[in-house]
Amino acid sequence: MFQRILVANRGEIALRVIRACRDLGIEVVAVFSEADRDAPYLKLADQAICIGPAAGVESYLKIARIISAAEVANVQAIHPGYGFLSENAHFAEVCRACRIEFIGPPEEAMRRLGNKNEARKLAKKANVPVVPGSEGLITDENQAIRVAHEMGYPVLIKAAAGGGGRGMRVARNDISLKSGLHAAQQEAESAFKDGSVYIEKYIEQPRHIEIQLLGDRHGNMIHLFERDCSLQRRHQKLVEESAAPNLPEEVRSKICESAVRLAKEAGYYNAGTCEFLLDRDNNFYFIEVNARIQVEHPVTELVTGVDLIKQQIRIAAGEKLPFKQKDVQHRGHAIECRINAEDPANNFRATPGVITRWQPPGGPGVRLDTHACQGYRVPPNYDSMVAKLLVYQPTRLDAIACMRRALNEFVVEGIKTTIPIHREIMNHTAFIEGHVDTTFIERTWMQQKA
Ligand code: ADP
Repeated sequence: MFQRILVANRGEIALRVIRACRDLGIEVVAVFSEADRDAPYLKLADQAICIGPAAGVESYLKIARIISAAEVANVQAIHPGYGFLSENAHFAEVCRACRIEFIGPPEEAMRRLGNKNEARKLAKKANVPVVPGSEGLITDENQAIRVAHEMGYPVLIKAAAGGGGRGMRVARNDISLKSGLHAAQQEAESAFKDGSVYIEKYIEQPRHIEIQLLGDRHGNMIHLFERDCSLQRRHQKLVEESAAPNLPEEVRSKICESAVRLAKEAGYYNAGTCEFLLDRDNNFYFIEVNARIQVEHPVTELVTGVDLIKQQIRIAAGEKLPFKQKDVQHRGHAIECRINAEDPANNFRATPGVITRWQPPGGPGVRLDTHACQGYRVPPNYDSMVAKLLVYQPTRLDAIACMRRALNEFVVEGIKTTIPIHREIMNHTAFIEGHVDTTFIERTWMQQKA
């Protein structure tokens, strides 16, 4: 096992990894940008090293600075968290070339799965259903129109290198296809320095179902069931839960088995997530693999009792998975609400600033993963998430009731947050009955089409 690890991230996930290291008796080194200099969680690490100015590209995304910090601190492994460098195969390669273990999948699998178009090919090879779409990349308007006519509108233009809902455009006719194509290419070029796009059939009002995977370096690969992440705005998740409501058992096991097949085909190990869309007839289609730990991983931790971050570290150290597929049981129901520094009444505009009052919820069944506290300044430079509020109860209705109680106890002042919209969601009949899809929030609260 490692003696010392560096966390190449910030905020709640940095704190989450610090906690896992404490539990495992491993020393932990944090890094920080100038904007995070006073963040309280840094004091919980054994050492904290400044890696540059506030801008992510100058600090958390700067490979050379992170590697220098790792060498100065003499660590044996780096945990990348999510976002930033977590899905950067080049970073994984540099780490391993410097004899520092990258806590994540092998570079080769990251490369193959990181490009959505390549991942689709791999899925087809593994006999996993994919959303109908263009055979390869789309390079010009005429080709786009031909493909769209073959498939039938509506279609979705997607960036091959996409992430965070960027570089995605819905087209319902030739005119919106042409303008969407250029817009998606430009957005992808500026966000990912790769403007390549492809076209998929746009699934109307789908649900988002994803499967948590865990595999070791000895060929064992298992799933830890599903998470339903249908509650989104701008293709970004706001609420996640497990089990997925109203999902027939045979569909559920088929999706889980597909995810494992794909991971094996890709030569994958460590933690990962395979994402699917489910249409109104319960047909499921692969959309992408997230080759890293995800924000919503605690949902799965609650229903399976498996600590995913500890497992990631153990797997990276070469240990075998301590359980088999049949040993993993799904018990009860967990829900996560993402508490973001955003104003839901104002199109989810980011609201960075100082938290003047912070009164977190507690009591039975409540877990709060956060780096925030009273007096904490939410910097404007990064993702707006300030906390993940989770509940765990025997049934879904108990979990909803528990989440309502927790949201009512939660007081945050000084900045606007997503707490009010979560309260509305938890009281909405469509959510309570489990009849929501990825367009529900936008249809209900944003009065605009997805
Ligand atoms: P990103 O990597 O940018 O997060 P994903 O491919 O994971 O993009 O898709 C994010 C979300 O976009 C999905 O959860 C879903 O809401 C929507 N989406 C993606 N592909 C489709 C599709 N073919 N039809 C309808 N919605 C889609």
